[in-house]
Amino acid sequence: DRSAVTILVPGRLHERALARVDKAFKMVRLDRADKSLISDGLAGTVRGVAAMTAIDAAFIDALPNLEIIASFGVGYDAVDARHAAAKGVMVTNTPDVLTEEVADTALGLLINTVRELARAENWLRQGRWVKEGPYPLTKATLRGRHAGIFGMGRIGMAIAKRLEAFGLSIAYHNRRRVEGLSYEYHPTLAGLAAAVDTLISVAPGTASTEKAVNAEVLRALGPDGVFVNIGRGSTVDEEALIAALSGGVIRAAGLDVFADEPRVPQALIDLPNATLLPHVGSASVHTRNAMADLVVDNLVAWFSEGKPLTPVPETAGVAKSA
Ligand code: NDP
Repeated sequence: DRSAVTILVPGRLHERALARVDKAFKMVRLDRADKSLISDGLAGTVRGVAAMTAIDAAFIDALPNLEIIASFGVGYDAVDARHAAAKGVMVTNTPDVLTEEVADTALGLLINTVRELARAENWLRQGRWVKEGPYPLTKATLRGRHAGIFGMGRIGMAIAKRLEAFGLSIAYHNRRRVEGLSYEYHPTLAGLAAAVDTLISVAPGTASTEKAVNAEVLRALGPDGVFVNIGRGSTVDEEALIAALSGGVIRAAGLDVFADEPRVPQALIDLPNATLLPHVGSASVHTRNAMADLVVDNLVAWFSEGKPLTPVPETAGVAKSA
């Protein structure tokens, strides 16, 4: 009987996910994912967690009968999946359903970065077109650019397909070459940056990608270089990026993600050659509904069939005990 299974929702969650969890299970809400908020009476009853917030090891340890954490979003860097795996707790994310949306946003961000569309619109809105004439010609263009993708996974592929249609050449860096893929592979990120003038990062936020886009990589990208980040802010040395943008080491950057969201360094906000978005990669009603459904479908599949739809690699081997 699923309606007797307690699912804990710490912090905010998408409305549609809340409504479906409430209907299918016994839903309990908590202000935030803080173990000190878990009462003794609640601790032993929780079998599942649905969340779009960080879940740390202490929170997992405070729930002795926890079986599954259904996380909202494809990037699950905020969930301690390794600890969950060690404790036999399944973790799921929401891949695929957001891939095309995020790739669309990446292209929009890239075009805005080189063609300054947001600034040009402000020029019109501020009446400057009438008073001062046409918006200045943009120094950058997409024409003739060579793109490099850091993180050629699901979203990286969808971005590459779009870039091909725009007539750009494509190269990439992953830890492993993708079998059967004809784009030029670079075994190092600095090597990729040296070979291209447009670096698009869609790599996950992990220990191995931490500050991977550093001063050396930005120098290798060069003075006409454009950097776009739609992956995770933790993959960039933000200080080095600010220095590169203000010192002409690269031409421009378009960022959807930051090291300490929602706080964005004033130095970045002050830079005219930075195009900044508030982490809206997947943020349409359509795609967020699909992500909400996949969160709940994972819980339903786990408690009815004993198998989730989209386990993260770290917990793929976790089995449901009777
Ligand atoms: P995938 O797992 O399909 O792709 C990730 C790619 O990154 C893989 O090709 C992987 O290849 C590569 N990679 C991982 N670690 C490294 C490393 N240390 N060095 C080089 N390459 C590495 O994920 P998705 O494409 O579905 O999503 C990618 C990320 O995009 C998410 O993790 C999330 O953080 C971010 N994202 C951001 C959104 C936004 O709103 N801005 C929305 C959705 C996702 P290999 O294993 O061979 O190294």
